[in-house]
Amino acid sequence: MSTPETSGRIVPVNDLPERRAVSVDLTTPTSVLAIGAHPDDIEFGCGGTLAKWAASGAALHHLVITDGAKGTWDPHRDVVALVAQRQQEQRRAAALLGGGDVVFLERTDGELRNGVAERWDVSRWIRRIRPDVVLGHDPWRRYRLHPDHRHAGFIVTDAIVAARDPHYFADQGLAPHRPSALLLWEADEPNHVEDVSGHTETKIAALLAHESQFESTMGIEEGTSAGVDEFARRVHSQLAEHGAVAGIAQGESFHLVTDM
Ligand SMILES: [Zn+2]
Repeated sequence: MSTPETSGRIVPVNDLPERRAVSVDLTTPTSVLAIGAHPDDIEFGCGGTLAKWAASGAALHHLVITDGAKGTWDPHRDVVALVAQRQQEQRRAAALLGGGDVVFLERTDGELRNGVAERWDVSRWIRRIRPDVVLGHDPWRRYRLHPDHRHAGFIVTDAIVAARDPHYFADQGLAPHRPSALLLWEADEPNHVEDVSGHTETKIAALLAHESQFESTMGIEEGTSAGVDEFARRVHSQLAEHGAVAGIAQGESFHLVTDM
């Protein structure tokens, strides 16, 4: 096979201008299911969006897949007590965002796999709750190291496929359900922004409910208000960065999937 002639000039792909359409603000859903790998992932990923929708009457549902037992840098920490504390923190965070039930699947933190049992569990909750919108980790996020975030993302996408088809997991005895939209946070290719102006303080308050994560995740030295202020400043600047994709002052960006 002969090679076609070219000018010989090579343009790196990364130098090509990006021209992707970005949508802004879904209409407020009736029912929302946010699914995170660990306690606190939902608040980081979509806390502002959930607070906004709850304030407009959406019913929130929170599902946390692992037990969060690895969430400490203290090698002597009682992990059973840590799991209990993190579940309390998650319930408080959910209440601050606007309420709704919190389901804990209690899979082992750090050892999550996208297996049939995990998909069975999550698809069952999708069929029970019957959300209009599902939110979760973007499993296609490049260079992500944490395996739980990657696996949790794929569990959600695969569970959506299972939940919508009557022949998947028929033993659940539940009617199939097809959500209308999936929003993936920490998106590898953001194509949607939710304007969370007016709800940023609620997101920060919900994040700060996770006191056990101050040191390991949030970089807040225990008991220092300066540390809390610095954390809040970082959240504000990240929301500004996300919003800038769509010219919004404070936003949360996602990859929106509507081909469900
Ligand atoms: Zn996490």
